[in-house]
Amino acid sequence: MKTDYNIITGICADGMARVIAVDSTATVQRALEIHNTTPVATAALGRTLTCASLLSSGLKNDTDSVTLSIKGDGPIGGILAVSDRFGNVRGYCSDPRADLPLNSEGKLDVGGAVGKGVLTVIKDLGLKEPYSGTTELVSGEIAQDVTYYLAASEQIPSAVAAGVLVGPDENAPAGYSVIAAGGYMVQLMPGAPDELADTITAAVGAMLPVTTLIGAGATPDDICRDLLRGLDYKEETRGQCGYRCVCSRERMEAGLLSVGKRELRQIMLEDKGAETVCHFCNKIYRFDENDLWKLLTGKR
Ligand SMILES: [Zn+2]
Repeated sequence: MKTDYNIITGICADGMARVIAVDSTATVQRALEIHNTTPVATAALGRTLTCASLLSSGLKNDTDSVTLSIKGDGPIGGILAVSDRFGNVRGYCSDPRADLPLNSEGKLDVGGAVGKGVLTVIKDLGLKEPYSGTTELVSGEIAQDVTYYLAASEQIPSAVAAGVLVGPDENAPAGYSVIAAGGYMVQLMPGAPDELADTITAAVGAMLPVTTLIGAGATPDDICRDLLRGLDYKEETRGQCGYRCVCSRERMEAGLLSVGKRELRQIMLEDKGAETVCHFCNKIYRFDENDLWKLLTGKR
């Protein structure tokens, strides 16, 4: 079913648990188109983007952001995803062309592509220093790793699910596209009774894979209602989020200056210009000799 929203938050059990669910199908498809990811890299990056959207529920101010950084020893290398408060995300991975055979269950081997390593979550809440925490990867399957991070680093009992289903598509340049992607996260509030934790754990365990649900037309609202059946679920917010880059010429200028004025001067003299590419959207920014001169002298 087509809806005018794709992300929803709510509470249940008298506010003792919070939930967020997102349909990230269009977002992950956009990531595939930008980065030309293989199916397994689409799944790994897509799940990370989806989890970043889910973690946006902890942000309060419009300028807050949350970053998920995965550093594994698998062929995909690092994965980075950033979300704003509304679940709008951007991201990239070190090797979007990394490829692996399907795993023993016949599924995309995201865990194998990511490998062993660490997950770092950085929250920029507009304070002097961003908040950050790091935990070891449990499986490299992303959602499990985020669940473990939340329990171990932030002491928040949570259940996180994130999935990406890629299928053949003869109309797509890559020959495949994202059929369904999405996720949900339930978190217990401090003081939540043990029975509630048991009930929610059982409910999560009984859920069909999120891509099966979304592929069959379930909305984020359907997912929350299904998951929290009998727990007095109440919707709080709903919105529309997507893949959104925030790069600009000004940001690129700041990046150029950060290499050092001496080095930049060298680049100006030797290369007569510079080119920078945004990691998140692959947009190219060109600076000629004149532009670099203005940057170096501060003259506009
Ligand atoms: Zn960009």
